[in-house]
Amino acid sequence: MKLPKRRRNYLRYALVGVLVVLSLFTLGLALAGDTNRYNIGEEPISFCQSIKDEPLEISLIGGADTFVFVGQNYTDAGVEADDGCEHINISVDGSVDTNTVGNYTLVYKGATDSGKTGEISRLVRVINPRGTVYLTFDDGPSAYTAELLDVLAKYGVKATFFVTCGGDDSMILREYNEGHTVALHTCSHDYSYVYSSVANYFDDLYSVQNRVKSITGETVYLMRFPGGSSNMVSMNYDGGSHIMSTLVNEVGARGFTYFDWNISSGDAGNVFSADAVFENVVYALKDGGSSVVLQHDVKDFSVAAVERIIVFGLNNGYTFAKLDANSFTAHHGVNN
Ligand SMILES: [Zn+2]
Repeated sequence: MKLPKRRRNYLRYALVGVLVVLSLFTLGLALAGDTNRYNIGEEPISFCQSIKDEPLEISLIGGADTFVFVGQNYTDAGVEADDGCEHINISVDGSVDTNTVGNYTLVYKGATDSGKTGEISRLVRVINPRGTVYLTFDDGPSAYTAELLDVLAKYGVKATFFVTCGGDDSMILREYNEGHTVALHTCSHDYSYVYSSVANYFDDLYSVQNRVKSITGETVYLMRFPGGSSNMVSMNYDGGSHIMSTLVNEVGARGFTYFDWNISSGDAGNVFSADAVFENVVYALKDGGSSVVLQHDVKDFSVAAVERIIVFGLNNGYTFAKLDANSFTAHHGVNN
């Protein structure tokens, strides 16, 4: 006699259940057997005595060669040592003067109560920062901005967002609340509109300024031209008036500060992968100077490169900062 369908399914699940329980039970016995093999017939102290003749090994937590910027606090990551059940005293010879550039060696010495010793050292270099990196993101906010803000927060890095009238207000508010610079790019990002007349340009710029003010309460005067101050796309729309030559002066006259960039990630051009964005940025970092990096947080692959760029920069002695009215502007030459 055939069982009803529902009944058969129930039996199959029950059978699978029994098999799973049996396998877990077998696995449990095997693990217990393994553990018992070391301790059968012995007191725990015997286990400790069995490794007593081996040298005391100390290992560093963190790197053997590390650095701190002059004037910053140095926090040592410490060491690890394990000698079974013996108590270990660790002492450190040396210190780091973070106010003086130089190389400092810390020697960690360990000793057990029974007299075994071991040591290991770490080089701490107190250095001047190699340069400042200003990460800037145009054309957002977008669906990828939240992920970007998470990465920046993870490393305590502040960046600059040149925003438009697109995307969610909540993302601009988050940028602002998390201490980044919210700056102006363009409301429409429509070249044919903004570069067809000076009046249109400022109509568009004041629109995005008003948007930011409605969200953050701040009237922002930091900005970046669509296409940068060196753009020639404006020649297609300005009727031969050389509008960029007028605008770079006129924004200044109205109290704005404009920024260009001196490192392009290429993410708005012929680059379509996080690997290429990463390479374009890190190979171009200005050793001993300021790097203003152009990226777009409307590009998922560009956002995906940011964590690697930050890690590379921090590991190589760069600091990250947001733009303000006194920052390096990275101005291009005007071509129209
Ligand atoms: Zn743009």
